[in-house]
Amino acid sequence: MMTEYRKKAPLMSETFRENPLRLAFGLMRLPKNPDGTMDIPQICEMADRFLAAGGTYFDTAYVYDGGDSEKAFKAAVADRYPRESYTLATKLNAAMGATDEKSAKQEFATSLERTGAGYFDYYLLHALQRGTYRKYDEYGLWDYVKELKAKGLIRHWGFSFHADPDLLEEMLEKHPDAEFVQLQINYADWENPGVASRKNWEICRRHGKPVMIMEPVKGGILANPIPEVQAVFDASGTDASYASWALRFAAGLEGVHAVLSGMSSIAQMEDNLKTMKDFRPLDDREMELIHLAQRALDADKSIPCTACHYCTKGCPMQIPIPEIFNVINRRKGSPEFRTIREYGIVTQGRGKAGDCVSCGQCERVCPQGLKIISLLRQCKTELEK
Ligand code: SF4
Ligand code: SF4
Repeated sequence: MMTEYRKKAPLMSETFRENPLRLAFGLMRLPKNPDGTMDIPQICEMADRFLAAGGTYFDTAYVYDGGDSEKAFKAAVADRYPRESYTLATKLNAAMGATDEKSAKQEFATSLERTGAGYFDYYLLHALQRGTYRKYDEYGLWDYVKELKAKGLIRHWGFSFHADPDLLEEMLEKHPDAEFVQLQINYADWENPGVASRKNWEICRRHGKPVMIMEPVKGGILANPIPEVQAVFDASGTDASYASWALRFAAGLEGVHAVLSGMSSIAQMEDNLKTMKDFRPLDDREMELIHLAQRALDADKSIPCTACHYCTKGCPMQIPIPEIFNVINRRKGSPEFRTIREYGIVTQGRGKAGDCVSCGQCERVCPQGLKIISLLRQCKTELEK
């Protein structure tokens, strides 16, 4: 694995604006007020610190928080900073945000208005996976992004990808002019066949495509990993955060233009900036610790849900899928009473695991490829006694 990790690869596109910090401020998990609205003062403070540290790259999407993420970007950055001080990526989602070609294409204009950015530096066809990629062909969206680029409304276009290496090969052969690919890469998913971080990254390198990395901390799971993984890093003798190990693994890869971290607090921003300002790739001894952590994760039976909530929007039974999985994951070592009580709290007024009608909507959009229907059946058995 070490050889693969350090493998030399063709140079990435030189047309992208430089991103020396390499950290990107992911706007998917922004801090919120108790009433569910965006905590704009805190987001402004996070953006200020990010830009002051040399960061430039912000990443949002049409579907994040039902549009509130793009609006928060406007309030915290576009309305407060000159256009040349930042770069912005957003995404068009044909599966979750649209019902036909017209509504899919309308997303671009809506994103432009919500963000106030005037143009996008990076525009992505969002979350291509086995269950969704045909919609992008059906709605003519590959040609659409090229038209937008020709009009100067976007600088670069690419796609984010959550599927198997065979489909990635197919996509890059069919669309060789894609300028970059966004991939889920982290040490936990490096050899995970459901995510295929390593294989997909290798394909991008072979095709000479710059890579934007998403989920380097696996939706926060690696910032607070299972005790067995914590023990591995605790033994290193440093006080480095668990998240910093994950970030350094991702950012050390060849051909990476940006590592997106979806930050939810000033503390997370500060920790990530500390890691990336004086970035140091993992050395051989540190990579050995990563291998030990990977082994510990392989033995873990937790459900690897990143709480992205892509699955919940279209669930006809309003089942809080990630919250239920979280309860199951946290039951390890907890008295049963608390688990059942927490299950009652997260499902109050919403669907329960046993209400699932197996429509399959959630599985078609889950970027982690989770077998949600069968997992919910197991949750029902354990939680609805
Ligand atoms: S399969 Fe079950 S959980 Fe998934 S969307 Fe349908 S009803 Fe909801
Ligand atoms: S089950 Fe899948 S789609 Fe739903 S929140 Fe978890 S990772 Fe996201």
